[in-house]
Amino acid sequence: MNAPNLPALDAAVLPVGGIAGAGRPDGSAQRRDGAARMPISRMDLADAGSPEALVKCILRAEPNLPLPVPIQELCARLGISRIEDLNTDEFEGGLVTDAKRSAGTILVKRGGESRRRFTIAHELGHFLMAHHVPDQAGRFLCKSSDLLRLTAKAGDQRQRREVEANRFAALMLMPPHLLREAMAAFREPDLQHVLALARDFAVGKEVAARAYVQYHPERIAIVVAGNGRVQRCYRSLSFPAITCADGSPVPTGSLYHSSPHRPSTASDIAACSPDLWIDVKRDLRAPDLCEQVYLQQNGFAMILLRLEPVPEESAKERRLDEGWRHRFHSGRR
Ligand SMILES: [Zn+2]
Repeated sequence: MNAPNLPALDAAVLPVGGIAGAGRPDGSAQRRDGAARMPISRMDLADAGSPEALVKCILRAEPNLPLPVPIQELCARLGISRIEDLNTDEFEGGLVTDAKRSAGTILVKRGGESRRRFTIAHELGHFLMAHHVPDQAGRFLCKSSDLLRLTAKAGDQRQRREVEANRFAALMLMPPHLLREAMAAFREPDLQHVLALARDFAVGKEVAARAYVQYHPERIAIVVAGNGRVQRCYRSLSFPAITCADGSPVPTGSLYHSSPHRPSTASDIAACSPDLWIDVKRDLRAPDLCEQVYLQQNGFAMILLRLEPVPEESAKERRLDEGWRHRFHSGRR
């Protein structure tokens, strides 16, 4: 790292709240190449407006970023002078700053380390994106629904800025090059990998699940269920939409209901009827679908869905079949 004009980050410049143990709660973050110094400054980010461009700049300046990403050290380097506890149930996080963003204080609700890290990264995103304008002058306040938001209604600037802050947080805590490196060790889709990502990157399981489906080469989806109902579903690009709407019960035929799953242990992977989850066209051969279930302690569960790759022979047959059917139907018209 070559930034002789910047002092090494040390305890003297850390904000109140102690970020020396950034990373793992016990301060035992794995350091790559002993990379504790962070030469990046906000000057480096002057031209970056999108979450992707911002993260790219930060990663260019910090090629040896350790894991878990020391998000609090990054905050200190990038102009956040304090990180304080937020004592309210209404909001997950907040940011106090001025229009010029000369400095900022991040507020974060007490709670688990991985949740706090995501909130801190999200608020840092608001701080660094100059086009993010808060509802109240000088103060962003973000609810838990804001921290889950992945899409925005057209024209809704508030929703759009929350989506951008979430994209920034996910990319910053799970930098693409480190994620790809971690994913290279994984082969067959398995929820154990999601747990490993959550542990190594110190992010929540749901954040890890989103990255996992996005980066895995196979057709997979992860359904988040809460108290027996579908809450959300994350899909790889090639996985079809699931037929269960958010809020609807997990289908009775799902492995989720078969007895009994041990909490905090990923189940075996088992075949299921594809009709449970996806729309199978009547005139097409049903694809093979597998499920795996991981029950969490708090009534939540993750259900991994995997569409089996169609073997080359049968893919060819299917194409022939479809071609024949197409001609047949065309002929009748
Ligand atoms: Zn926000």
